[in-house]
Formats: sequence, structure tokens, C-alpha cells
Amino acid sequence: MLTCDTYHLPTTLRDALELWSEAPEGSRLVSGATDILPWAREGRAGDVHIPSFVDVTRVAEFEGHSLANGRITLGANVVYQDFLTDGVLKHLLPCMPYCAIWFADDQIREQATLAGNLANASPVADGTPAVAALNGAVEIARLEDGEIKTRRFTVSDFILGPGRTVLQPGEIITSVSLDALAGYGGSFQKVGQRRSLVISIACCAALVKADSTGRVFDDVRLALGGVGPRPIRLNAVESQLRGERISRRTIDRAAQLAADEVASRSRQEYRRSVVIGFVKAGIEEALENQPDVDVKFEEMENA
Ligand SMILES: Cc1cc2nc3c(=O)[nH]c(=O)nc-3n(C[C@H](O)[C@H](O)[C@H](O)COP(=O)(O)OP(=O)(O)OC[C@H]3O[C@@H](n4cnc5c(N)ncnc54)[C@H](O)[C@@H]3O)c2cc1C
Repeated sequence: MLTCDTYHLPTTLRDALELWSEAPEGSRLVSGATDILPWAREGRAGDVHIPSFVDVTRVAEFEGHSLANGRITLGANVVYQDFLTDGVLKHLLPCMPYCAIWFADDQIREQATLAGNLANASPVADGTPAVAALNGAVEIARLEDGEIKTRRFTVSDFILGPGRTVLQPGEIITSVSLDALAGYGGSFQKVGQRRSLVISIACCAALVKADSTGRVFDDVRLALGGVGPRPIRLNAVESQLRGERISRRTIDRAAQLAADEVASRSRQEYRRSVVIGFVKAGIEEALENQPDVDVKFEEMENA
């Protein structure tokens, strides 16, 4: 059984920060609790006692999203289901619906926050490569002499290693900000023992924009998860593709380069074929999904 002495449900950021900074040792901060509950059960036949839970799901400042200067800022309580149902999020974050559809099941998606997924810092979390591809940044807040102070990190700097982040005692994620990429096509590739419910062993987020002719790569964003402790952004592959004509040959070359880049940055050679397959499928699916542009592969035009 999981028990606690106190269960706090603050409704403002200040109250949450006060409760969390004063919580006795061993206390837990929770949002959706989809990681915490399995953690409490793991390897234990029953009893886990927590002094205090600070549940942030009612903090008003953590609700919804806002758009400014080409970036969308998601409150810490945005859940995976929102990426499937919120029209603005679907439009501006084109890889997120594909990430969400393979994430757990309906019930977990309604509870699981993106912020909690990042804070958990699992090397195989689905959210980290998707956020990395969207140039994501995490904002965290703490109380200092009674004042709310904030710090901001790119997702790669926020995650220090498996299960480790820059979060210090008393700190809480307030939001995650991302590039707003209307007009891009998105994709998310994932392998695990099953595609959902079982956590993936590797995954790839892709965002692609063909130019108005549909023949040339205007922009490409690619990030992999599960091939190292932190998400890997495939910068060299992206640069190689930008400005290139869209063809199967170009995509094949990019996929080979991705595998070389991963091999040089991780020791997991066995995943080479997975990386090649992901990058190809990710780019092709993202091109298919790009709205308003009829994408033309060079080979098809010459056939
Ligand atoms: C059946 C099942 C299937 C799953 N499938 C997937 C999957 O397909 N892909 C995947 O990536 N994950 C999966 N997960 C893992 C989990 O659902 C995600 O990691 C989820 O996004 C965590 O969010 P949460 O809001 O539930 O976090 P919680 O469980 O509430 O918290 C997780 C961690 O984050 C911290 N935290 C939460 N919110 C904040 C905040 N605002 N500030 C600071 N720290 C915070 C908590 O203290 C805790 O350490 C699955 C879990 C289950 C049980």
C-alpha cells in the first residue's frame, strides 16, 4: 500500500513552491503520478510511506499555453492527450500528435504531463527527442528570500543523465517552451516490444518542411531518443538535407549519415539498422504529412 501523512493540493505557484521547499525529506512532488505509482510498486510487495505529496495538478499558472515570438509555451500541466485534441497544439507542434498516439494508452495520456516525462529523465522517454527537435526549453522556479526566481535550460542541458536533471530541492518545472512550426510535417517513430504501453527502446522525432515547389528541403529537424542518456539532435544530417532536392537517394544518404553520427556518439552499434529505418521513415512520413504542399520526389518526376 502507498500511504502518506499529508497530501497537498496547492492552487498557486507560490503555494506549491512554499509547500515543496518545506516538505520533509522523502516527500514527492507529483503531477499525473503515472511514473510515481509504478515506482512505488516496483520491487515492493506493498508498503511505501511518503511523508508528504505535493500535487501540482491544480496550480493555475501551469494550465494551458500561450504563443509569442514564434515560440509556444506549455504550462507544466499540459498532458499528452492535449497533443491529440487541442487544435492549436496539433497545428504548431506537428510531431507531437504522432508522439502522443503511441504514448501509453488513453487513460495514461489523460494524466501524463510532458513536464513529468522530462523530469523523470528516462533515456527512453518519448517526450525528450520530440522536445529536442522543437528546440525545447524547460523553465523551473524556486523561492529565494520569499521571491519567485526562475531558471531556463534547453532540454539537453536540463537532463544530466538517466533519472538525473538539474532540478534542485525545492524547484518545480513551470513550463516547457517550443518552436511553433506551423506548416511543417511531423512524424514520430518508435520501437519497443509493443508500440504502446511498453516504453520504447528507441524513438525518433522528425519535422520537415519542403519549399513551396514541394521539390526542395527547406528545413529538417531530427532527434533520437533511447540511443544515449540524453536525446541526440542530428545536426549534421539536418544541415546536409537543407536546400537539397527531395529524393529517395538523398533520404537514404541522410539515414546513413545519421547512423554514423549515432555510432560516433554512442556505443550501441546494434541499433544502427533501427536508426537508418527510423530516419528514413521519419523524413518520408513527415513529408507526407506536410500540409498545403504537394511534395514531389525527384525519381517520380523523372520516371
Ligand atoms: C502504463 C504506462 C505506460 C507508459 N507509457 C509511456 C510511453 O509510451 N512513453 C513514455 O515516455 N513514458 C511512458 N510512461 C511513463 C509516464 O507516463 C511518463 O513519464 C509521464 O509523462 C510522467 O508524467 P506524470 O505527470 O505522470 O509525472 P509524475 O509521475 O507525477 O512525476 C514523474 C516525475 O516528474 C516529477 N515532476 C512531475 N511534475 C513536475 C513538475 N512540474 N516539476 C518538477 N518535477 C515534476 C515528479 O516529482 C517525478 O519525479 C508510461 C507509464 C505507464 C504507467
